[in-house]
Amino acid sequence: MIQDTHAHLDMMEEDKIQEMLKKANEINLDTIISCSTSFSSNQKNIELAKKYPLIKAAIGIYPLNLIELNDSEIERAFNYFENEIKNSIAIGEVGLDFKYSIKEEEQEKQKQILIRFIELSKKYKKPLIIHSRFAQRQVIEVLEENKAIKVQLHSFTDSQKLMQKATSLGYYVSCGMNLLYNPEVQKNITSFPIEKLLLETDSPMIFNNKTATPLNIKSLLDKLSELKKIPVLQLEEQLSKNFHSLYK
Ligand SMILES: [Zn+2]
Repeated sequence: MIQDTHAHLDMMEEDKIQEMLKKANEINLDTIISCSTSFSSNQKNIELAKKYPLIKAAIGIYPLNLIELNDSEIERAFNYFENEIKNSIAIGEVGLDFKYSIKEEEQEKQKQILIRFIELSKKYKKPLIIHSRFAQRQVIEVLEENKAIKVQLHSFTDSQKLMQKATSLGYYVSCGMNLLYNPEVQKNITSFPIEKLLLETDSPMIFNNKTATPLNIKSLLDKLSELKKIPVLQLEEQLSKNFHSLYK
């Protein structure tokens, strides 16, 4: 069986989700983690997870969205997470995004809230699904300093050096749709230990002019098999094993 470890099903039309779920079985897809980005997105993902057994909710707030929240809204968010953590498989999509957040105070706010998410992860033993755009080195620093334990670094395939650092801390790296067409990512994945790898589609984001769907996990698996020279079935087994050791 295979898992899509990072998607945003709350951003898909429900009839499209149902259509996709009907075909999941054909490609052995047994789990899709739907990551949350805002208040309404958390509610929607928890709802989807209750309705469809294949879907698991990750709860959290996207780093750029939390910049807009004031202190009392942040308190409200964390109360909500404490209450809803039982309905979730993980905490995500959380982390740092310094692409559109260039002011130092905003970056500091993101870091402080990431630290709270790390505490939440440790308290309830739930993995963190980490976003790190333009902040890959800084994310690793915050995770290491705060002794995060269960970590999936989402789409963390740009730097061999940082990928290696991540594995040395016991973290997992997930690889997305750019594996299909980005030679740099292909190269980095080829030399990355398969025991620390997960796959994700980030659906319904657009890659190479196409809207991703969790069913694309099959093309990722095939591509990985070609790059790693490991038979698909064996790969599927290994990736499932990785998934279950992080998400147990
Ligand atoms: Zn995402």
